[in-house]
Amino acid sequence: MCGTQIACQGTTADNRGMTAFSTLPLAPAVLANLTQLGYDQMTPIQAASLPVSLAGTDLIAQAQTGSGKTAAFGLALLAKLNPRWFAVQAMVLCPTRELADQVAVEIRRLARAQDNIKVVTLCGGIALRGQRASLENGAHIVVGTPGRIMDHLERGYLTLEGLSTLVLDEADRMLDMGFFDDIAKVAKQCPPERQTLLFSATYPEGIEKLSKQFMRNPQRIEVAAPKTESLIEQRFYEVTRQTRLHVVGQLLRHFRPVSTLAFCNTKQQCKDLVTLLQSEGFYALALYGELEQRERDQVLAQFANRSCSVLVATDVASRGLDISQLEAVINVDITPDPEVHVHRIGRTGRAGETGLALSLASMPEMGAVGKIEQYQNKPSTWHKLDELTPTGKGPLLPPMMTVQILGGRKEKIRPGDVLGALTSDEGGPAYTREQIGKIQVTEFCTFVAVAREVGPAACAKLNAGKVKGKSVRARLMTVATQSLE
Ligand code: AMP
Repeated sequence: MCGTQIACQGTTADNRGMTAFSTLPLAPAVLANLTQLGYDQMTPIQAASLPVSLAGTDLIAQAQTGSGKTAAFGLALLAKLNPRWFAVQAMVLCPTRELADQVAVEIRRLARAQDNIKVVTLCGGIALRGQRASLENGAHIVVGTPGRIMDHLERGYLTLEGLSTLVLDEADRMLDMGFFDDIAKVAKQCPPERQTLLFSATYPEGIEKLSKQFMRNPQRIEVAAPKTESLIEQRFYEVTRQTRLHVVGQLLRHFRPVSTLAFCNTKQQCKDLVTLLQSEGFYALALYGELEQRERDQVLAQFANRSCSVLVATDVASRGLDISQLEAVINVDITPDPEVHVHRIGRTGRAGETGLALSLASMPEMGAVGKIEQYQNKPSTWHKLDELTPTGKGPLLPPMMTVQILGGRKEKIRPGDVLGALTSDEGGPAYTREQIGKIQVTEFCTFVAVAREVGPAACAKLNAGKVKGKSVRARLMTVATQSLE
């Protein structure tokens, strides 16, 4: 992919042999923060890219979600930032809002070592007005989707004269989603002397086009992708149109995975399956294209913090979803595209964990199964439905429950404030750190995971006590929170 205008050099983490963050030119406070975050060693993509990006060179890096790529570009852009200058100095373009939110969270964590760095997310599905106000209050870093960023630029709410770093995250996916023109327009408004960092899992043609147009002598970095596929156990089951949805419950009762992502080919199938699973007593939620942003946030928060057992999704809706612990993927419908199949099942078995990929196929789908076999270059393993007997005691319940606090970043709530309220004696008995899970603060509300047994009591405690010295309203989230009309 290296054209004549681009000087490309391949490099790998292995031949560098240095993986301590202290080998990098980073400030002592930044290094101390990394230690606090538990980042002891650089991941391969960090070890290969940070020496290059910290030196100011443009970069094309091949990296997957979960590889530590956010810190790879986050540390580079933060190193150049001047906190005392209130101008947008770095911008990260992402394909989806979920990814943008994750990137913003990670950058805020990395920025804890520096004074008051403001990170603003600009994505579609949210009123422009609030985003404009956040920009007016002064933002150092903008993270968002190309369409919405373009919108702000066109209206003059966002100016990029002070930009020193432009990051294109998951560039291949942005191209897949038709963002080339928006990216091009945004890039043209950035100062030409800025540094550009491009991260992509694959190198389709469009990447070369982007790099030729918008990058200066980029150095190319590849890190061999960890081979996780062998850790995924694939099982196929033959079903009929009538039995298909019922078999999903049988699989869940047999394997009892804590978190399952179930893929359907249509929105209607998602709704039908969620309705059935809920009637069978499972904690299942649906994720499909037309969900309102607010609802999408609620669904994703509950699934990611382990208070929902099954997320039933379409392929498009699940783009950008990064759930680290996913015991099982169920292909409720076989996808006609073998590449999509491999992408679906690749979501389980991450980071060296074993994963289960269960696929349901009816006679008319056997052609698609054949294509998958050819693509993966291995035959599928078929299992019989009568092997599926319920195991374990009682219904499959998620280990956590989510309490939603009606107040978020706008109210300046931070995870530590909520943790403080739950571990104090105010409003009811104090909880231990082990009973409290993920605390996710979004713009307008906060999702707190607590151990299932203490869910209602923890919610009552939050309503009775104070968070950051103020009374708050909290409610326990249940499957009934999602309407499937
Ligand atoms: P990413 O690929 O950016 O989505 O990162 C995946 C996860 O790895 C995130 O939860 C990061 O917080 C975490 N992470 C990133 N770098 C390191 C590191 N050097 N050591 C340990 N964890 C890391």
